[in-house]
Amino acid sequence: MRQQSAIRNPQSAIRQTFLPFSPPFLGVEEIDEVVSTLRSDWITTGPRTRQFEVAFAEFLGAPGALGLNSCTAGLHTALATLGVGPGDDVITTPMTFSATVNVVEHVGAHPVLVDVEPDTLNIDPEQIARQAARRAPRAIIPVHYTGHPCEMDRILDLARQHGAHVVEDAAHALPARYRGRLIGTLGDLTAFSLYATKNLTTAEGGMLTATPELLEQARILSLHGMSHDAWNRYSEEGSWYYEVVAPGFKYNMTDIAAAIGIHQLRKLPRFQARRREIVRRYHQAFTPCEALQVPTERPEVEHAWHLYVLRLNLECFDWWTPDGPPGLVRKRFLEQLTARKIGNSVHFIPIHLHPYYRDRYGYRPEDFPVAYREYQRIVSLPLYPRMSDQDVDDVIEAVLDIVDQHRR
Ligand SMILES: *Cc1c(COP(=O)(O)O)cnc(C)c1O
Repeated sequence: MRQQSAIRNPQSAIRQTFLPFSPPFLGVEEIDEVVSTLRSDWITTGPRTRQFEVAFAEFLGAPGALGLNSCTAGLHTALATLGVGPGDDVITTPMTFSATVNVVEHVGAHPVLVDVEPDTLNIDPEQIARQAARRAPRAIIPVHYTGHPCEMDRILDLARQHGAHVVEDAAHALPARYRGRLIGTLGDLTAFSLYATKNLTTAEGGMLTATPELLEQARILSLHGMSHDAWNRYSEEGSWYYEVVAPGFKYNMTDIAAAIGIHQLRKLPRFQARRREIVRRYHQAFTPCEALQVPTERPEVEHAWHLYVLRLNLECFDWWTPDGPPGLVRKRFLEQLTARKIGNSVHFIPIHLHPYYRDRYGYRPEDFPVAYREYQRIVSLPLYPRMSDQDVDDVIEAVLDIVDQHRR
């Protein structure tokens, strides 16, 4: 693979090349498999997608997996499979990517946001309980934020109590464990993202895990609602006949994407070991610094470390004033990181601040006080297996330098 050389400028200690936030990590294995697929007679959903689905389910110990073209498609298909629709409440978190909530709108149901826990920024089970007591939800969508599993025992309990389904947004949680069990084996349906920036990528892609019965329905819905897919119709053993049993979607995974995924999956344990090593170094460097708060990992979980979200103790910075605009310190901090050629991001702008959701449901920023407060102080740092030790040192040095230069 290509590794950018970070030649250092001793005067300023600033890298010469920009460190991207989250580039993919593809090797010759992925490239060769894609080329073989392109040279074969089958480029869309077929043998490689099946092979990838089987390997993916085996990796997680899930009863089955369905390859799709995104996690968004997986979440949408999951809700449709469960028959969630108009008149139904779906409880989820404001601390997520818009796709989690958009799919609730897609099926015509009513998204109900509840606030997050201050340590993990995951959906707060006590808030779910309070909301469910008011009006029973049809489904709950926990999002394993940054790869830290949600409090699943409590959430599954609440779902059972109120007759609700649990669809997990596991876009960040490959692989993650909750009390020894891998995410993808807990809820009714679990959706993973294989988007370019995620822990395992097929450029665009998603996986849905569930029982074979649910997956059979999901598979039909994900491909036009047809009773047989193209592989079953056009291959030697197939037949031309099919029936449309529902107005389905067009969400299937291509064999070109699966060709990448098959090899990414084999490398995943190595990728994760490297992520953990980088996290260890970040923790070690940032924990002693009173201006910074490092991310938590509760003892009962194994974190997937998709993201490293650092929190700024705002009053420690010279940009801070008691009545200054919210988010100013975080904004300045990110500008300083960019100036030091360190890629960065914010995960996430809480859902209720986006104009569509704000205006449709009349949300005010303070409606979810924890999500709103923490949003002003979160900073995502580069974290990916391709990072060299020098890259990691550059990030650490840049962060500590900013803290040093802008101490209040
Ligand atoms: C990336 C992401 C998604 C969407 O994944 P796609 O595969 O791009 O559809 C959904 N939820 C969360 C939390 C994400 O980070």
